[in-house]
Amino acid sequence: MIKAKKNKLGLWICSGGHASHFHESETACKCGCDYNDVDQETLDKIEIIRLRINKAIIVDSWCRCPEHNKNVGGAPSSGHLFGLATDFHCNKMQLSQLWLFCHELKSGFNGLGTYPEHNIPKIHADMILRFQRWTLRGGKYRYLF
Ligand SMILES: [Zn+2]
Repeated sequence: MIKAKKNKLGLWICSGGHASHFHESETACKCGCDYNDVDQETLDKIEIIRLRINKAIIVDSWCRCPEHNKNVGGAPSSGHLFGLATDFHCNKMQLSQLWLFCHELKSGFNGLGTYPEHNIPKIHADMILRFQRWTLRGGKYRYLF
């Protein structure tokens, strides 16, 4: 991964050189450990979604240190450990709508799934090297491919 850089305001900078809509405070590990290595590709791809929907995206989880990842029940090899995964939602869009948008836009994420049963229903998108799509149907996670 290539770690993204941020500007003086703390906004992560896209590959194209412009500031993204995402601030360092939104992406840092939530345990307070300061781990905050945002992957450049992951940032570029979520910024494209942000621009296309033209609505605020709320980041629920991005970077996680191993301890925090464990505490929140993350997979042991989770992309969140490397800044390669982001969980997010949008208050102005249904989760299924946002998911379809990410999917049909061919956002370029390797992994894309939904967690509709969480307290705050969210999308998971990542750039780990396994290509997969999943969603919850009839109480079970279904992998589309
Ligand atoms: Zn942490």
